Amino acid sequence: MSTLLEIFETMEYGPAPESDAAVNTWLEEHGRKFGLFINNQWVQPENAKYYPSLNPANHVLLAETTQAGQTEVDLAVTAARNAFDSWSKISGMKRARYLYAIARNIQKHQRLLAVLESVDNGKPIRESRDIDVPLLARHFYYYAGWSQLMDRELSDYQPVGVVGQIIPWNFPLLMLAWKIAPALAMGNTVVLKPASYTRLSALLFAEIVAESGLPPGVINIITGSSKAGSMIVKHPDVDKIAFTGSTEVGRILRRQTAGSGKKLSLELGGKSPFLVFEDADLDSAVEGVVDAIWFNQGQVCCAGSRLLVQENVAENFIQKLKTRMDKIRVGDPLDKCIDMGAIVDQSQWDTINSWVKTGVDEGGDLFQPDIQVPDKGLFYKPSLITGLNPAASTVQEEIFGPVLVSLTFRNPAEAVALANNTRYGLAASVWSENINLALDVASKIKAGTIWINCTNLFDGASGFGGYRESGFGREGGKEGLFEYLRPAWNSRPRPDFKPPQPGQKTSWGQHTPSRPVLPSQVELNDQLQPKVDRTAKMYIGGKQARPDGNYTMPVMNKKGEMIGQVGDGNRKDIRNAVEAAHAAHLAKPGWSMRHGYNRAQILYFIAENLNARNAEFTQRIVEMTGQSKKSAQSEVDTAIERLFTYAAWADKYGGSVQETTLRGITVAVNEPVGVIGIACPDEYPLLGFVSLMAPAIARGNTVVMVPSQKHPLSATDFYQVLDTSDVPGGVVNIVTGNRDHLTKTLVEHEDVDMVWYFGSAEGSYHVEFESAANMKRTWVGYGQPRNWLDDEQGAGHEFLHEATQVKNIWVPTGE
Ligand code: NAP
Repeated sequence: MSTLLEIFETMEYGPAPESDAAVNTWLEEHGRKFGLFINNQWVQPENAKYYPSLNPANHVLLAETTQAGQTEVDLAVTAARNAFDSWSKISGMKRARYLYAIARNIQKHQRLLAVLESVDNGKPIRESRDIDVPLLARHFYYYAGWSQLMDRELSDYQPVGVVGQIIPWNFPLLMLAWKIAPALAMGNTVVLKPASYTRLSALLFAEIVAESGLPPGVINIITGSSKAGSMIVKHPDVDKIAFTGSTEVGRILRRQTAGSGKKLSLELGGKSPFLVFEDADLDSAVEGVVDAIWFNQGQVCCAGSRLLVQENVAENFIQKLKTRMDKIRVGDPLDKCIDMGAIVDQSQWDTINSWVKTGVDEGGDLFQPDIQVPDKGLFYKPSLITGLNPAASTVQEEIFGPVLVSLTFRNPAEAVALANNTRYGLAASVWSENINLALDVASKIKAGTIWINCTNLFDGASGFGGYRESGFGREGGKEGLFEYLRPAWNSRPRPDFKPPQPGQKTSWGQHTPSRPVLPSQVELNDQLQPKVDRTAKMYIGGKQARPDGNYTMPVMNKKGEMIGQVGDGNRKDIRNAVEAAHAAHLAKPGWSMRHGYNRAQILYFIAENLNARNAEFTQRIVEMTGQSKKSAQSEVDTAIERLFTYAAWADKYGGSVQETTLRGITVAVNEPVGVIGIACPDEYPLLGFVSLMAPAIARGNTVVMVPSQKHPLSATDFYQVLDTSDVPGGVVNIVTGNRDHLTKTLVEHEDVDMVWYFGSAEGSYHVEFESAANMKRTWVGYGQPRNWLDDEQGAGHEFLHEATQVKNIWVPTGE
């Protein structure tokens, strides 16, 4: 036993254990065996298979839970479907009361939830008590508010339906809150599957919800393996899948839901950079690193796992960091003085350990502090690997453990290049006392969340989600609501197309160029004036371009007569167009860097020039489609109206200030997505084209347009409008030809950030399926009719939503 004087001198911590008695009582009351939570009841399937849940800190059995099969998944989906009928119809105000009751009840049981979370997952009680559970309650309060406001503020929307939600093990309660709270608030019902390593807190949450008086079937919790997850994903009566987990599984889910009309949001992995500039407060930045990578043992999707330090302070900084690492306390998660608890499972421990070995094999210098770690349990020392090459797999791949890799940079441009040298884009942390530099770097990093001089901050009022292979969709904030809503006019598409069997060959996107079309015989006579040939070309980089393959495609009218020819584009034309679209971003000033005011002026100018040729475009539509002059006229007039609409939106959709709990500013910036490939519908050849092009370019994207395959001539006539409207070269590129053939190249192209497709149901399936290769965002029409003349269907909020991605920037203020 140490004397008081000795303790004073060493400043050693004594143990400060949190009791797990209440958790054990709760587990005992259930006989340490749990069924599935369906319709507010515990369901114990006949011949149920159970599987054990162990405490990773000491390998003690906590309880056994049920392995759900198809019957149970069906039961849960049916319960959710039945509940949806009434839950979606009661007023938002009523739902708000339920959500409020859940939030209150979470707070009443917060200690029980926190202790259970720590014993089940291995995370320090300090974190589950002070971060996970308070944020759980915060999300329900926040979305109770949106439920209250829904009827008035979101009257153009309807709930999606039954939502399948699949969550990972690193923040079992927090991930559940991010998914369930907005879904319920917007009138959806839920079937949720927690991860296999951590499913107990979701079951306790289910009881807390039932105690709050939530009607049966609104929330159903299914435990089971990835197979049960897959059953939820494939269930025909599930209308949306919300998934958080690895990019690898996200890819599988993208393919499984392709073409089905189910909404999908994916919150995936990351390898987030933590940038320290020479003028940063280095001591604060060291504490930042501790929070960034050793919070939750580094098992955090947005962990700052790639440390990038400016060269001239790197040595000093790494020394300070190593000194700090010597003081990190690893041990019993229920000890209140512990910094790092246990790794969730032996297999995860093995993965981490093997990555550390790889790092050393790749030439890295490993530093692990000489600190005490309990012998029993899955503990891992905080680890730092320096001296790696930026291309090393340890620098590129997500390790998902307490392992930090460190590189240096010389100047801000190099810092940004290194930060963006990843296939992910979830988060970044920027440390500098120079606000100009910090905000400039924040704007250049491609990631959904940027923390300036802070890290790992979360709040219900701020959206969270990724760019690139970190997924798409947002959770939190107002932006998170749109994942659980559809436009009021649009019910769930149920496309009439059967996906091919795995391995089955498909001819989708293949195309053979056409041969000359023989016209009807015309007798030569004196009155006949042969037409002057006018061959429409492609439009790439602001110039007319011949098709690379030197093939043309006939354009026929309603009577089957040839009225013109356009270039029959191929892969090379698309590649050239994508290159031009990228160059338009890099030009000075790049299209996305121009003021909204400037983009608005250009859109107004396009409208003005289209109006000047109103009669000519009307005539062209009549000629191509055979519709009446009146309806063609209304198409042209609406196209002009659309250009005015997006000129208006060009400087009014920049984002908002989020009212988070941070003392400082959290701004949600609606950034452009980048280069968007757009395949236009056949109906409304001019209006469809304009309605898709205008929102995309208004919001700073550059586009590769594939016009209507059947009626492309109003798009090729449009070059002249663009040419006379000050549109910089490369902002709008137009490649005519076979829609699906060209779309396939766009979807497969690594440098296209998003694809919009308004062709067939089959094409929609392929676009969604193929996009999984690099987790490209997509927006498809599933071959469903859309009245482009209608303002809601042709210019609703979803166009702006699809043309942007939200980046949240957190800036603390004060001393
Ligand atoms: P995971 O292996 O992808 O599993 C996530 C969930 O999906 C689990 O419930 C899992 O069930 C289930 N699942 C696995 N395969 C499935 C399939 N084929 N069909 C349907 N469901 C399936 O990820 P994890 O290891 O649990 O979590 C770590 C990953 O999550 C990391 O990559 C991390 O970055 C990411 N993450 C992202 C965020 C974010 O917001 N972006 C937040 C937290 C974590 P079983 O557990 O039964 O296998």
